[in-house]
Amino acid sequence: MARVKLGLGEGSGAPTSPRRRHSRAFMSGSWEDVAKDLVTMTTTDEKNEHILIGVLAIQGSYREHEALVRKCDPRARAVEVRKGAHLRGCRGLIIPGGESTTMANIARRFGLFEPLRAFQASGKCVWGTCAGLIFLADHIERGSKEGGQELLGGLDVGVNRNFFGSQIDSFECHIPWTATKGSTEEPPFRAVFIRAPAITSAGPSVEVLAKYKLPESKRAKLVGTPDEGREEVIVAVKQGKLLATSFHPEITSDTRWHKLFVDMCANEVPYELPEDGAEELVQSFRPEDLPVFDDSVIAPVTRS
Ligand code: GLN
Repeated sequence: MARVKLGLGEGSGAPTSPRRRHSRAFMSGSWEDVAKDLVTMTTTDEKNEHILIGVLAIQGSYREHEALVRKCDPRARAVEVRKGAHLRGCRGLIIPGGESTTMANIARRFGLFEPLRAFQASGKCVWGTCAGLIFLADHIERGSKEGGQELLGGLDVGVNRNFFGSQIDSFECHIPWTATKGSTEEPPFRAVFIRAPAITSAGPSVEVLAKYKLPESKRAKLVGTPDEGREEVIVAVKQGKLLATSFHPEITSDTRWHKLFVDMCANEVPYELPEDGAEELVQSFRPEDLPVFDDSVIAPVTRS
């Protein structure tokens, strides 16, 4: 195997395989560092050996996802995506948990919706966790922000945004692993739900990977709501190149969900930016000034 020169002052003496170790540049996840590292790789094979996974890094648990991407598969590399051009070379994108309306506002201001849509339309893999699942859903059945909230869409599901309650109702539990079928039975996975959404409807092309059986206490709270009588909700799905989970695998030490996603991405070709170039993709939106800067909202001072 050819030698890889490592960037950012790492020792260049010992032969180092990209399969065996991650350079400091890849550990940082910054796009500039990762790009530097990629250009120092000498052969196409080495470059192809990497599965570059973008992690939307504008809000939420993106650092945790990056760590799990690195941990789950020696071929996988994570890169932080804050503008369209950062998607170059990615075979998949993770949209982390956080807060979906905040994420949508920042994505709009950073001019990210169009590049994200272009990436998705090119048929690359996308995985949304928690707020990321809401972001990927085609519609919010209940709990949407008043006045609506912008979604990336594409996943044929309806979500109930804060189905499990508010922040203090967050919980964790174990759920049987049914996402992949091996020859031996897999242990259950630990699912951490943080003010989590639930999938309350799914189209025919959606494959259900995990369900959560509602405890009696939760079912009692559903009496009188449109979800009355519901015994379980869907919490993980796959639809073609899209994966979505309402819990947070990135804050556990179980790498199986990340491995599943990296395996989905493994056969993709690295993303090339659309012809009309990176410049248009990174044009950002200039938000209006906050009211505090606008004299019109300051009440006139009246003196007696
Ligand atoms: N309920 C949150 C939202 O609406 C998601 C919470 C999370 O990602 N942990 O975005």
